[in-house]
Amino acid sequence: MSDGDRTSCIRCGECCVKGGPTLHHEDKAILLAGHITYAHLVTVRKGELAYDPAAGGLRPVERELVKVRGKGNVWSCCFLDEQNSSCGIYEHRLLECRLLKCWDPAELLSVVGKDTIVRTDIINREDPIVEFIEMHERQCSYHVVEGPSAEPAETTASATLAKRIRRDLAIRLYAVSELGLKREHELFIFGRPLFRVLETRGVSVRLPADDLTAAYLDSKLF
Ligand code: SF4
Ligand code: SF4
Repeated sequence: MSDGDRTSCIRCGECCVKGGPTLHHEDKAILLAGHITYAHLVTVRKGELAYDPAAGGLRPVERELVKVRGKGNVWSCCFLDEQNSSCGIYEHRLLECRLLKCWDPAELLSVVGKDTIVRTDIINREDPIVEFIEMHERQCSYHVVEGPSAEPAETTASATLAKRIRRDLAIRLYAVSELGLKREHELFIFGRPLFRVLETRGVSVRLPADDLTAAYLDSKLF
């Protein structure tokens, strides 16, 4: 049966394979109840490419988004049980999941990009990590590494870019070692490492295998 013939959800999970939902303010109660934790989230930082259901393709985001993360380095939602085509939080699924009807996207499209949360909406403002997030944004933002057309400014990382990529990793590892940031919360706190995002944009990044990069080069987490 094609999407066009469908009139109800058969829970095939095809939509969940494309990626987890973006969080809206309405979803905060589900987080507060503990059904979803920071370990289940990834931040898509301003300027990073993300799938835009309204445009039907990848676009740089204009405002940071917090999404349910994928599995390792694929976007398939971390709550999707592929063998059984079931959702691990079905009773507590988020707004976009409740509205998603592949045969009639109007309801979902009516909320896309509206009333979405940013990291600091769900972090205690007294937490010292907030200062690190702000520093990371200043020093490792996407607008300084990509051109106005949202295409990578270069196809090979320049010396300046390579320095910024290392700065990105250094801030992350400092937060882990000195502030006690849990590694499983890193994707939420800092988003995906700069070099991984640039690789997906076709920018060749050669990192030396030293102590700083060892934690990332072989990791399937990012
Ligand atoms: S809404 Fe998602 S899970 Fe339901 S039928 Fe459509 S693609 Fe499958
Ligand atoms: S939370 Fe559940 S319904 Fe929503 S995308 Fe993930 S697996 Fe699918």
